Amino acid sequence: MNTEDAEFLATSTQAVSTRTAIRSLSPDELTRMVLSMGQPKFRAQQIADWLWTKHVTSFDEMSNLPASLREQLTQMFVIGGTDEIARQVSKDGSRKYLLKFADGASVECVGMPTRNKLSVCVSTQAGCGMACAFCATGAAGLNRSLSAAEMYDQVVHVAKDFGTRATSVVLMGQGEPFANYKETMKALRLFNSPEGLGIGARHLTVSTCGIIPMIHKFATEPEQFTLAVSLHSAVQKTRDMIMPGVKRFTLLRLWDVMQEYVEKTGRRPSYEYALIGGVNDTDDELAALCDFASDTMAHVNVIMLNEVPGSPFKPSTDARAQLFVRKLAQVGVECTIRNSRGNDIAAACGQLKQQVLN
Ligand code: SAH
Repeated sequence: MNTEDAEFLATSTQAVSTRTAIRSLSPDELTRMVLSMGQPKFRAQQIADWLWTKHVTSFDEMSNLPASLREQLTQMFVIGGTDEIARQVSKDGSRKYLLKFADGASVECVGMPTRNKLSVCVSTQAGCGMACAFCATGAAGLNRSLSAAEMYDQVVHVAKDFGTRATSVVLMGQGEPFANYKETMKALRLFNSPEGLGIGARHLTVSTCGIIPMIHKFATEPEQFTLAVSLHSAVQKTRDMIMPGVKRFTLLRLWDVMQEYVEKTGRRPSYEYALIGGVNDTDDELAALCDFASDTMAHVNVIMLNEVPGSPFKPSTDARAQLFVRKLAQVGVECTIRNSRGNDIAAACGQLKQQVLN
């Protein structure tokens, strides 16, 4: 990583909450803690079971632990947890929640059911520092990064509400996961682990606005997690205008690191492309996108922009979206038009929070 990249990351990443959260301990750390309290090793497994499978919110509920240990744990740690402060239910069945953590920070998450599946869209930060011009969350700035347990809480909350287990998780809610890399990886591993949610790595997706040093690092992780990159324009000038936070991570560098990612992992990344009328849906923009994505193995997801009240950016048309699919197919690039779910419930990133808290 060059020095400028390191500085960028240092300023865009904020420390996770300072509370001693027991769920921030790794299995090894939990075992060491239990042993240091003079307890037998199996207590660590019991505690983990209460925390990650039974989702208790107080140490008193850990009924197979001695009362004295429960008392000690209560004094040393907090379990955390989250309160629902608002929700919206869409005609298409998806539900959007505004959840609040103990320090008052709040985030949105969304549950999207299809037949016997449940996909959960999770936030990785309260707010976001990337300032994408078309995004409701970007406008409000960054409050703080979330801990892995806080990401886990969102999935548990949604799954409980639907009365079923989550079958996939997308880190596509508020925040930039790669500006909170360590906790994001921890969360992915908790989602993946049989002792956590047991969701297959390929059903766990991280979406980044394109923080190059972290894509580089992500390519070396052993699990088969899925990567999505928010591209939104393959023309540098346009991308700088709509995604000013990643100006320094140029398209040239992005293209290179994505090649490296594909070579290293053999996995297929996807590019998110929200069509904005007159901005990134023109013929020139389409030609640039074809150039950028052809011969790369990448899949393009075209999304219709979710209109944010007060924003100058408007969605493009279905006809333009269809043209994008046809032209990309001609150069061998697979492209899907994603129907934006929960349009009627302001599911666009950051809008519920804006409505409730403003
Ligand atoms: N920071 C990460 C993940 C969170 S944003 C990222 O940039 O990928 C999740 C996705 O929603 C991104 O692709 C983002 O560009 C997109 N998005 C944000 N606001 C939007 C809007 N108004 N309409 C459509 N997509 C939007």
